[in-house]
Amino acid sequence: MAEIDIPDAPEIEGTTHLHSGKVRDLYRIDSGEHEGRLLMVASDRISAYDFVLDSTIPDKGEVLTRMSLWWFEQLAGIVGNHVVSTDVPASVAGRAVVVERLEMFPVECVARGYLTGSGLLDYERTGEVCGIALPAGLQDGSRLPEPVFTPATKADLGDHDENVDYEAVVAAVGADAAAELRALTMRVYDTAHDLARERGIILADTKLEFGRRADGTTILGDEVLTPDSSRFWPADDWEPGRAQASYDKQVVRDWLTRESGWDRASGEAPPPLPPAVVERTRARYVEAYELLTGERF
Ligand code: ATP
Ligand code: MG
Repeated sequence: MAEIDIPDAPEIEGTTHLHSGKVRDLYRIDSGEHEGRLLMVASDRISAYDFVLDSTIPDKGEVLTRMSLWWFEQLAGIVGNHVVSTDVPASVAGRAVVVERLEMFPVECVARGYLTGSGLLDYERTGEVCGIALPAGLQDGSRLPEPVFTPATKADLGDHDENVDYEAVVAAVGADAAAELRALTMRVYDTAHDLARERGIILADTKLEFGRRADGTTILGDEVLTPDSSRFWPADDWEPGRAQASYDKQVVRDWLTRESGWDRASGEAPPPLPPAVVERTRARYVEAYELLTGERF
């Protein structure tokens, strides 16, 4: 298990800090109009190889927050979401949202339309991903005959999520909820994939988190369809059989493994990023946002 060191979340008046992940800080709102709701704050932190890096990427929290909000809107006809308001304390303006507090399903709902990452590793070992048999001869980056639901269970901080089969989801949440999560996940993926494709971006895969409202309805929580939860590839550069260039931490990963002199196997924390790497990474996130939404950041 990797050592994860997350900086202390800043205090925000009128809230109680609940949880910090690698990138986001979660607070409960203690009073006022939104009492009992949550404040989800996206920091400029960046993680790679299960470390939170010492460097931050300027504007990353805001880019990802705006991208997620944009997607929630695009998907509103398919599934509801937890967003209540973007009127947030000044210290986190632009990179936080007020959300309904949900009872989250303990499942990472992943859809894959292309094979890479942990899906590829599973396929190379077993010919299957999450219990779903795939045709022989697929390569890194191959498009699947049809998109598949490849759920995972959330690991503790610092561990990798674990891919599981559909039966494990049924065991965790019951047959009805499992069927609903799968159906919603695939509809979201199909819609988002087609939309991104029109804008020159391949949505290779994505991870969604759903939760239940008190009235029993299932809606989207967390963030959606950001480069931190999804793989976006420039479509005109797509070529199965090799790793794809992607709109996320590729720049960071390449620098860490090829240029920084950092030994991943050492267990040591990676070095801070040089300013040029920070700037290139920021530019990649902004480019993805602008291409997808058609808006200037
Ligand atoms: P990491 O993503 O770094 O691996 P993490 O998932 O613990 O770790 P975050 O993603 O920052 O960290 O944490 C967000 C947490 O808030 C997740 O546990 C997520 O399930 C939960 N969450 C998201 N939306 C809601 C919501 N509307 N109500 C309750 N919990 C939520
Ligand atoms: Mg998370």
